[in-house]
Amino acid sequence: MTLPNAPPDIKALAKELRAGHRAALARAITLIESRRSDHQAASRDLVQALLPDTGKAVRVGITGSPGVGKSTTIDALGMFLIERGHKVAVLAVDPSSARTGGSILADKTRMARLSASDHAYIRPSPASGTLGGVAAKTREAMLLCEAAGFDVVLVETVGIGQSETAVCDMTDFFLALMLPGAGDELQGIKKGLVELADMIAVNKADGDNLKRANQAAADYRSALHILNPRSEHWHPPVETYSALTGNGIAKLWQKILDHRTAMNAAGDFAKRRREQQVKWMWSMLEQRMLARLRTEPSTRGRVRKIESEVADGRITPSLAAEQIAEMLK
Ligand code: GDP
Repeated sequence: MTLPNAPPDIKALAKELRAGHRAALARAITLIESRRSDHQAASRDLVQALLPDTGKAVRVGITGSPGVGKSTTIDALGMFLIERGHKVAVLAVDPSSARTGGSILADKTRMARLSASDHAYIRPSPASGTLGGVAAKTREAMLLCEAAGFDVVLVETVGIGQSETAVCDMTDFFLALMLPGAGDELQGIKKGLVELADMIAVNKADGDNLKRANQAAADYRSALHILNPRSEHWHPPVETYSALTGNGIAKLWQKILDHRTAMNAAGDFAKRRREQQVKWMWSMLEQRMLARLRTEPSTRGRVRKIESEVADGRITPSLAAEQIAEMLK
C-alpha cells in the first residue's frame, strides 16, 4: 500500500481506527512500517494518541518449527474464538522475511477460513531487516489492532532463537507447538524455549498419530518436571490436540484463560506487562542510538574506522567500544 507524500492527518486516522475501520488499520500499520522519518514521527504520535485504547487484548505468542501446524492451528483457534464473539488479529515476527523477500508467516493463503472472516485481521511480518526492527513494528501493530477493537492478538513466529524471545516479550502467553513422535529427541526442549513456554501443545493428535502424540506429551511432561517453571504461580501444562479436527482447541484456549486468571490473582500479569514496556523502551533506545552512530555523517566515518581497527586486531573491542561510547556524549 502506498502512502500519500504528506504524513496523514493523525487525528482523523486515529478516529477511523478506533471506529474499527479495517482500511484505516491497514493504513496505520503501513505508516508505522515506513522508514521515512516524517512517517515515523507521525506514527509515534498516532500510537501515543491511541495508547488509552490499547492493552485490553489477550496477547498470545505461538511458535513451532515449519510444518508443525501453526497456520492450521491459528485458523482453527481463530475461528473458534470468532464463533464466541471475539475479534482476532494475527501478526508475525519473521526476521528472515527481509532477506527472503516474503514472509511465510501470517500468510492469508495459509489461513483460509480466518482470512475470509470480517472478524479477523491478518498481517504478515514487516520486512524491516533486523529482528529488533521487526519486533518493534509488530509491537506497535499489536497496539493498533487493540485500538481497532481486536480483543485477541495471535503473534506467530518460527522456532528460530531470538525471534521467540522477542515474541515472548510482547505477549501474555507463549505457546510452543510440537510434533508427535519426536519425543525421543525431545525437539524443542532446548533450555531456552522451555523457559519461555507457558504451555506445550503437541499437535496432530489424530488418526494414526494419536499414540505417538500421547507419548510425546508424556515425555515433555517429565522433561518439564526437572526444570524450574518461570513463575511459581503457573506450571506450564503439556496438552495434545488436533488442529485438523479441532479436537482440543477449546482446551488450549481454556488453559490460556486459566493462566490469565492465575497470573492476575498473583499480580504477575500487570508485572509482566510493566516489565515488557520498560524493556521495549530500552530496546528502542538501543536501536535508535546504534542507528544514529552508524548513519549520521558526523559519526559514521569514525565508527567505520574504529570497526576496521578492531577487525585488523590493532585495538581491542573493549577500547573500541569505549571510543564509540564517547561519541554519544
Ligand atoms: P506451519 O508450517 O507450522 O504453519 O504448518 P501448517 O499449518 O502449514 O501445517 C503443515 C502440514 O501439517 C499441513 O499439511 C497440514 O494440513 C498438516 N496439519 C496441520 N495440523 C494438523 C493436524 O492437526 N493433524 C494432521 N494430521 N495434520 C495436520
